[in-house]
Amino acid sequence: MENIKDPSIYRNPVILQSEELTKYILETAVYPREPEPLKELREATINHPWGFMATLPDAGQLMTLLLQLLNPKKTIEVGVFTGYSLLLTALNIPDDGKITAIDIDRKAYEVGLPVIKKAGVEHKINFIESPALPILDKLVEDPANEGSFDFAFIDADKENYLNYHERLIKLVKVGGLLVYDNTLWGGRVSWPEEQVPPHSRPGTQAAIQFNKTITNDSRVQFALTSVGDGLNICRRIA
Ligand code: SAM
Ligand code: CA
Repeated sequence: MENIKDPSIYRNPVILQSEELTKYILETAVYPREPEPLKELREATINHPWGFMATLPDAGQLMTLLLQLLNPKKTIEVGVFTGYSLLLTALNIPDDGKITAIDIDRKAYEVGLPVIKKAGVEHKINFIESPALPILDKLVEDPANEGSFDFAFIDADKENYLNYHERLIKLVKVGGLLVYDNTLWGGRVSWPEEQVPPHSRPGTQAAIQFNKTITNDSRVQFALTSVGDGLNICRRIA
């Protein structure tokens, strides 16, 4: 596998066979239909030192389609950053819909907040500045929350994905969706371990373990897709 090039953590991951193909998809199908507020938020994030963390717009386009099909009212997001996926969700739920959005970094959220306000959807968002796990534990403690969420998007620390899954599977209703981002980790999930740069190994291992566990989880039906950096789309069935 001599031709493997580490896409590095500072560039968008390359799952597809070429960057040209990624560019083709974005320029032909994604950017022409990307709503103006999302474009604006993406542009506001470009110069952020961690701007590469934002949800990739092709993954966003698939999420939009899923949200439109599911028509969720109550959603939860773990890992907000500047708010691309959050704004996207807010634009695709009803006016009285609610998103519980959790992130340890309110400063990053504030970069996108003016765009969220301008789009007129801030009232749908309950932003909680905190590590996600204790918040999810608290939600699970209250029986009223069981099966009460229609949709979850998970995009924070990958090493905790399985911990998040065990809580969210209780919070999302049967028939609801749990969408996990970065589950192909720049394609490194398929690389020989010694070729994965040390800084990428924890994320790679977490993604491998996560995908394997989901495959054996009879509570969900799922599709591991190669859109964006790999969306693992799970539907709770039990
Ligand atoms: N979904 C976002 C978007 O569309 O731009 C990108 C999220 S970014 C990849 C990951 C985020 O997870 C960061 O903003 C980081 O602060 C947050 N994060 C990391 N560890 C966390 C934790 N333990 N609990 C909650 N948020 C966490
Ligand atoms: Ca992501």
